[in-house]
Amino acid sequence: MAPIKLTTKEQIVQLLNDFDNFIFDCDGVIWLGDHPIPGSIETIKLLQDLQKTIIFVTNNSTKSRNQYTEKFTKLGLSVTKDEVFGSAYAAATYLDKIIQFPKDEKIWVMGEKGIIEELNDLGYETLGGEDERLNVKFHKDTTPFLPIDPKVGAVIAGLDTNVNYHRLAITLQYLQQPNVKFIATNIDSTFPSKGLILPGAGSIIETVAYASGREPIPCGKPSQNMLDAIVKDKNLDRSRTIMIGDRLNTDIKFGNDGNLGGTLLVLSGIETEENALKHGTPKYYSDVLGVIYDLYK
Ligand code: PLP
Ligand code: CA
Repeated sequence: MAPIKLTTKEQIVQLLNDFDNFIFDCDGVIWLGDHPIPGSIETIKLLQDLQKTIIFVTNNSTKSRNQYTEKFTKLGLSVTKDEVFGSAYAAATYLDKIIQFPKDEKIWVMGEKGIIEELNDLGYETLGGEDERLNVKFHKDTTPFLPIDPKVGAVIAGLDTNVNYHRLAITLQYLQQPNVKFIATNIDSTFPSKGLILPGAGSIIETVAYASGREPIPCGKPSQNMLDAIVKDKNLDRSRTIMIGDRLNTDIKFGNDGNLGGTLLVLSGIETEENALKHGTPKYYSDVLGVIYDLYK
C-alpha cells in the first residue's frame, strides 16, 4: 500500500487511538544535532500527557544513555534513562546479555565516549577509544604500537571522529584473531549535520571490515536484537506500537521487520518525499513530527 501522508485532524485522532506505544528515532525527528525541530517537543509532551509509552532509540553511539537523558532535560523534556536506547547501550547489552561476554576479558573500542561509558557501566574494562596515545601520526617503521593485549576478546566499533591510521591499524590486529568478536554499534552509511551529509559509523567500520575480511554484528537499528530487547523490557504489544523515524533503511526497516503496527517517516531528516513514495515502505509519512501536535490541538 502506498504511504499515507498525515494532513488531517481525523488521521491524527485515529493514530492516537490505534497506538499506545511510540518508538522515536532522535536525530532528524526530534532534533538536528543540537537544534530541536519545531513542533517535536510539543508533540512528545502531548503524547506524555496522553499517557503513551514513549521510547527513544538512536543509532548515534557517541553518547551514553546518561548523556541523552541530560540532553532531553536541556530541551525541557522529562525523560528517564530507561526510556532511552542508544546504539552504544545496545552493543554493550548485546555483549553482556546475549553472548554473555566474560567480565574478565577486555574490549577494544574504535569509537567514542558513549561506548566506553556504557561498557564500563556494565563492568567491562575497555582499551582504545579516545586514548590520547592513539592521536599521533602513525609511521609503520617508527611508531611504537600500543602493546596488543591478549585479554582483548571483542572489538566494538562505532562512529569515531578521532579515527586515524593508528586506530585502524591496531583495530585490525585484533580483528585478525578469529576468536575476537567483532561488533558494530550501528552501520549507518551517513548522518545529517548542519545541512551536510557526513560519513556515518558504517562507512568507517567498513575500512576494518574490508581489511580483515570480516563482517561485524550490527546492534543499532535495524537490528532486531535491539527491538526484541525493547519489546521485552517494556512489555509492548507490537500491534499497538509505531516506529517514527527519518531513515528508510534503518528506522522504517526496524519497525517493519519487527512487525510493529505502524511506521511513520518524517521528512525533516535524511529522506525526501520522492524516496518515501518510491520505496513505499512506511505506513504513514509527514513533513515533520510536529504535524501531530499542530493538527490535534
Ligand atoms: N550516528 C551518528 C554519529 C550521529 O551523529 C547520528 C545523528 O546525530 C546518527 C548516527 C543517527 O542517529 P539517529 O538514529 O538518532 O538518527
Ligand atoms: Ca534519524
